[in-house]
Amino acid sequence: MSEHVVIVGGGIVGCMTAMALVDRGYRVTIVERNQIASQTSGESSWAGGGIVFPLLPWMYSEPVNQLTGYGAKSYQQICERLERETGLPTGFINSGFLLLPPYDQAAAIRWCEDHHQSYELLDKVDGQLATNNEQPSLWMPEVCQARPPYLMKALRQWLVQNNVNLLEQTELCPLDEIKPLTTWKTLDGLEIKADKFIVTSGAWSFQLLKSVADALNIKPMRGQILLYQPTQNLKQIVYKDGFYMIPRADGQLLAGSTLEDVGFDTSVTEEVKAELAAKAESIMPSLKGLPIIKHWSGLRPGTPDNLPTISAHPQIHNLYLNTGHFRYGLTMAPASARLVSELMAGEKSFIDASPFALAID
Ligand SMILES: Cc1cc2nc3c(=O)[nH]c(=O)nc-3n(C[C@H](O)[C@H](O)[C@H](O)COP(=O)(O)OP(=O)(O)OC[C@H]3O[C@@H](n4cnc5c(N)ncnc54)[C@H](O)[C@@H]3O)c2cc1C
Repeated sequence: MSEHVVIVGGGIVGCMTAMALVDRGYRVTIVERNQIASQTSGESSWAGGGIVFPLLPWMYSEPVNQLTGYGAKSYQQICERLERETGLPTGFINSGFLLLPPYDQAAAIRWCEDHHQSYELLDKVDGQLATNNEQPSLWMPEVCQARPPYLMKALRQWLVQNNVNLLEQTELCPLDEIKPLTTWKTLDGLEIKADKFIVTSGAWSFQLLKSVADALNIKPMRGQILLYQPTQNLKQIVYKDGFYMIPRADGQLLAGSTLEDVGFDTSVTEEVKAELAAKAESIMPSLKGLPIIKHWSGLRPGTPDNLPTISAHPQIHNLYLNTGHFRYGLTMAPASARLVSELMAGEKSFIDASPFALAID
C-alpha cells in the first residue's frame, strides 16, 4: 500500500505539491479550510498577477533565482499538460516583459547574460506607453504568464481526476506540541490520519505552527490589484518603478500591486485604488476615464529576502514545510513541489536544499 500524505492548504503550492506526489505514486489528501480555486478570505493563489518571473531577478539571491528559474522553464509544459488532461484553460501565454526606466541597466544586463535570458534594449516602445527617454527600456521576450483563477481551477480538476481526496471547508487546528504526528485535529473535532503531513498554508503557516516552529518567519503582506478593460490593450507585461500591468488574452488588463503590512486584513481601500489608478494612467494615458471593473486583494506569505521554507521539521520526523513563497509562489511552486517530494523520498535534491531549511534551536 502506498504512503498517505496529507497536505495542509490548497493554494498553488499545495496543489502543485499534490500533483508532484501523485506522479510519484503517493495517496494524497488536501485539507483546505475554504474551497480550492476560490477567493474567500485572502488566499494568495487566486489573487496573484500570474507573471512567471521574479520582476527584477537581479535583486534576489541565487537560491530564489534557482526556484523561480526552474518555474519559468517548466510552466509551459505543466500548463499544456493541465489543459490537455482536463480540457480547462490555464491562461498561459508568452507575453514578454518590458521594463521601463529607471532601472539598474548594468545589473539587469549582467543578470540576463549570466542566466541566458534573451533581452533587447529598446529606444522606442509601444506608442500607448508614456516614457521619458532617459535610458533604453529592457525587453525580455521569453517571460510568460498564467491566469491564476484559471490555473487553480484546472489544477483542482486535475487533482479530482487523479483521485486526490479534497477535504474542503475543513480547517486544521494549530499544532500545540512537538511529538510524533499520527493524526491532526480539525476545528470540527475530526482526527485526520496520515503517514506524512506537509504544511502549505501560505500566510497562515506561522499561526498553525508557532508552538512547534517558532523560528518560522512568515507574515501576511497584502497586495491590492485593479482590473481594466481597455479599448486597445497592451501586448506585453509592462513594469515600471515597482508597478506592473499585465494584459490578459481576453483584452482585460491588471494593474498593481501594493505591498502592505496590515496583518490579516483583506479589505480593499479607496485610497489605494486611487493611487494604483494614477500610476496606471501615468504609464498608459489611454486608461484615463475608463472604469475599473474589479478591485481585489490577496495575502502573500511574506518572508525576509523572499526565501521560502522547504524543509523537513527537525524534530517531528513526518512533518514537512513548503511555505513562505512571498511574491513569487506561483513561479516557485514547481521547483518547491519537486524539492519537498525529494526530501520526503530521502533522495538527493536537484538543487541545494540548505538555504530553505527550517532552523530550530
Ligand atoms: C496581488 C498579488 C500579486 C501576485 N503576483 C504574483 C505573480 O505575478 N507571480 C508569482 O509568482 N506570484 C505572485 N504572487 C504571489 C503568489 O500569489 C503567492 O506567493 C502564492 O499564491 C502563495 O501560495 P500558497 O499556496 O503558499 O498560499 P495560498 O494561496 O494563500 O494558500 C494557502 C491555503 O491554505 C489554506 N489554509 C490556511 N490555514 C489553513 C488551515 N488551518 N487548515 C486548512 N487550510 C488552511 C488557505 O485557506 C489557503 O487556501 C502575488 C500575490 C498577490 C497577493
